[in-house]
Amino acid sequence: MGTIVNLDQVQAICVAGNWRQGGGDRYATLYPATGEAVTHLHAASLADVEEAIQGADRAFRTSGWAQRKPHERAAVLYRVAQLIRERSEELAQLQRLDNGKPITETRNLVASAAGTFQFFAAACETLEETITPTRGDHLSMSVYEPMGVVAAITPWNSPIASEAQKMAPALAAGNAVVVKPAEVTPLLALELAKICEQAGVPRGLISVLPGKGSVIGDAITLHPLVRRVSFTGGTTTGKHIAHIAADKMMPVSLELGGKSPTMVFDDADIDHAVAGVLYGIFSSSGESCIAGSRLFVAHGIYDSFMERLATGAARLRVGDPADDKTQMGPLITARHRETIESYVALGVEEGGRLRTGGMRPQGAAYERGNYYLPTIIEGVNNGQRICQEEIFGPVLVAMPFDNEADLIAQANDSVYALAAGIWTRDYKKAWRFGRAVQAGNVWINTYKQFSIATPFGGWRDSGLGREKGRLGILQYMEQKAMYWGMNELPLPWAGVEMM
Ligand code: NDP
Repeated sequence: MGTIVNLDQVQAICVAGNWRQGGGDRYATLYPATGEAVTHLHAASLADVEEAIQGADRAFRTSGWAQRKPHERAAVLYRVAQLIRERSEELAQLQRLDNGKPITETRNLVASAAGTFQFFAAACETLEETITPTRGDHLSMSVYEPMGVVAAITPWNSPIASEAQKMAPALAAGNAVVVKPAEVTPLLALELAKICEQAGVPRGLISVLPGKGSVIGDAITLHPLVRRVSFTGGTTTGKHIAHIAADKMMPVSLELGGKSPTMVFDDADIDHAVAGVLYGIFSSSGESCIAGSRLFVAHGIYDSFMERLATGAARLRVGDPADDKTQMGPLITARHRETIESYVALGVEEGGRLRTGGMRPQGAAYERGNYYLPTIIEGVNNGQRICQEEIFGPVLVAMPFDNEADLIAQANDSVYALAAGIWTRDYKKAWRFGRAVQAGNVWINTYKQFSIATPFGGWRDSGLGREKGRLGILQYMEQKAMYWGMNELPLPWAGVEMM
């Protein structure tokens, strides 16, 4: 295919600014569309973790990065954004190979990463520290300090965007960052580290340590010099990290899973709603934490709406991620596809009816890739496992609803509370449901739209803390109160005779 990279060369990893072969096991990263090796590398070893964290701590204390004026750090981060933009097509192609997303999506993710660095550069140089109202003869202030070494642990579904969302604010705040990308998608984090160094981030301040989460991720999280972990991934892993963090008294942010409800009312603009529901669940092949995977449709329009939705799903262009026209690429790994297949089988076992999909696409073009058709399951109820567990693939469960009270109860009946979609022309109803639904992110007459300026995160099992937003930088800083005495006279005890 001509675009597979580095096949004759072992991909170097970044250990405290040293680009070299990792000390761990050798493995190949695979292109999900064909199963071919994209590159091979050696994972980080535990010795690499130790060296990276010690090096990060040293770079934090000695490189002067934390002491640079905010506008000076910002200038470097603006340069990172510019370098990402200059290499955008190359990075988008690399991300396509790394995780098999369609090229139109990976281009957006690269653009989003550049925008994230630009945004946090601006947040850095405009962050205000405050003089607070005083209660005595002193000046009282609230200021912010960097934390030291922070860790970023990311999943495989949107590599460059999730890594930028952690690295940009962490660096803007003055910290050193140790990045643990998903084992199967290490390439974009490595490129981002190279770009940061090229832009002027001091060597040693960033490490990128690919490898198994249960080994490398755990060692990073447990390390006493790591002062904070920013994690995106599954809820089980997130809870495990939260336990370690509790023992270390370490702040964490956890961006976890979802099973997000989408509600379509009978007064909705049906063209928009059909397109929005399809996009909400099937873009990124459903490998998206915010996928709108539980659909509730008003009883009166259920049959006609589902007819249009199923026809639309069956017409989605599933195929080669390199093709600009492709809407759904392959799934990340063959094993993940098997998990999805077992969920579809479970849905049918639970009494569900396959409305469309439920199988791998047929034909030579699909034989080597981890493809799966957009799938809709009906005839289930919200209490069943197929409606409660995150599938993280192109599988939608659809249910009719009769009344508003029952709808909101069902929508909120989930351990997850990451996102929700509402489709209605009635602005009062949109307001009512938008406020009543329990979710960190609500889309009204749209879905999966973002702004880096808007804080993002989940409730309950969907996470803890927020990323993005102007104040997202504060997650990577410690707040400090400072009191400056302005008294002409000594404090009262000065009058007491000292022994
Ligand atoms: P995992 O939790 O398995 O992995 C996420 C990252 O954590 C990977 O880098 C993984 O390493 C690492 N990891 C695994 N075990 C540990 C551990 N014990 N200690 C430290 N790190 C560890 O999630 P998935 O890869 O399955 O990613 C999909 C999940 O991510 C879904 O549940 C999805 O909803 C969620 N997600 C949430 C988002 C959000 O913003 N809320 C956005 C995107 C995804 P490795 O894989 O290399 O072993």
